[in-house]
Amino acid sequence: MDIRRLSGGRLGSESGRVVGVLLGLAVLGLAMLVWVQGRVGALDEDVRSNAAPAEDLVGEMQYMLARQTSALRGYLASGDTTYLRQYDSLHALERAAYPVLEVYAAALAPEASADVAEFLTLSREWHRRLLLEEIAAVGSAGARLDAPVVLLEQEIYRRALDAASGATLSIREMTRDRHMHIQRIERDARLILVFLFFLSGGIAVFISIMNGRIRALALETEERRMEVQSAMDRTERAVAARQHLIRGFTHDVKNPLNVADGYADLLRLGLRGELPAEQAVVIGKIRTAIRGAVEIIDTLLEINRVESGGLKLELQSVDLAKLAEDVLEEHAWIAAAAGLELIFRDPGRAIIVLTDPDRVRQVLKNLLANAVKYTPSPGKVKVQLDFARESGHPGWVKILVTDTGPGIASEEQERVFYEFYRVPGASVPGQGLGLTISQRIAHLLGGEITLRSVPGQGATFELWLPMHRAAAARVRW
Ligand code: ADP
Repeated sequence: MDIRRLSGGRLGSESGRVVGVLLGLAVLGLAMLVWVQGRVGALDEDVRSNAAPAEDLVGEMQYMLARQTSALRGYLASGDTTYLRQYDSLHALERAAYPVLEVYAAALAPEASADVAEFLTLSREWHRRLLLEEIAAVGSAGARLDAPVVLLEQEIYRRALDAASGATLSIREMTRDRHMHIQRIERDARLILVFLFFLSGGIAVFISIMNGRIRALALETEERRMEVQSAMDRTERAVAARQHLIRGFTHDVKNPLNVADGYADLLRLGLRGELPAEQAVVIGKIRTAIRGAVEIIDTLLEINRVESGGLKLELQSVDLAKLAEDVLEEHAWIAAAAGLELIFRDPGRAIIVLTDPDRVRQVLKNLLANAVKYTPSPGKVKVQLDFARESGHPGWVKILVTDTGPGIASEEQERVFYEFYRVPGASVPGQGLGLTISQRIAHLLGGEITLRSVPGQGATFELWLPMHRAAAARVRW
């Protein structure tokens, strides 16, 4: 995996994300501007197309009312009918303006609309109550401006004018409201834009800091990778050197040892003359020592073969119950000689597993040999099979070898699997290689050896095996 490319890709995608976020904010700002334009335009249009012409028209009608009333007064004062005609033509103009003002009023704010409606009602009322005939009579009889009919006309006229002023004020109020609304929207929009601007800046700064961190992290990861790589290279070189050394061992050490053993045997057989009994004993000890050394070399060679992949498995369907029983039988006499009771918990049925029987047998023999070797008499060694289903490993089976020996302290339980490691003070001779090779073979079989022990209460070694390939793939040790 190329971490530089990985981190580069990540940085690329980060900057893509930044651009995306900033673009999103820009689109948001733009959308808001468009909305503000629309809203402000609508409010402005409302003022220009309805409020302003309505206010003008109310003013004009107010002016027309004034002219009409002065025409009537002119008539009352002079009896000149020209004034009445003047009133008529002004009234006709006023009537023509009613529907126009009504259309504008419908589009105004409710209060302004109501005030305009009241003004129109009072205007109409003024004309209806004018009782023009009586005015005409009053006018022809001579000017009398305090006649009741004139006073009545004046009263309604005054109210109509008040209503007109009220309508003008409400329309102005509405116009002012609209303008304030527009100002509010524009101010809010400015605030939001400033906020979006700072937000974009903040995001850009934050992302660039994050990018810096990711870059630093990527560099650190790359350094670690290189460290791991060089450690792996060193290990590979060490393994290769070790394999080379061990191959050399075979040739340079094992062969001469075998030759030495051969000569020692010749002496033992008396082919170079009869040996005194004491010398025969010494020769026997020399041969035991030579065979011990050859055995160590053989185990090392085997470990080497497992490590280098030279040991090929031969998988077949095996009845594990039968296999375990056979191994147990082979050890029966050794256990008996050691004064131990050997127990086999027969599962009572075949347990078929796809594995290499020779390798399983080899591991089981090692575990059993250790149990017998380290358990003092009188004691017990028990072998049993168990499905690992209960422990959350369906498709696995384990062979348990339990003894009543001294057990292994918890701090030693990992180390006993190390090469040449022996628990300090071990009472029985050994090489410290049996568990190492057993664990390597268990791994090769896709399984594991685990250990449970309480010092003074014996030990249980468990050989876990997958029953088929799929089960092996599911578990990581
Ligand atoms: P060896 O038995 O040749 O010393 P092993 O690798 O088989 O080498 O075992 C490593 C060590 O683990 C032994 O030296 C012993 O101290 C300890 N050990 C192994 N099996 C048992 C056991 N069943 N009970 C107690 N100790 C054990």
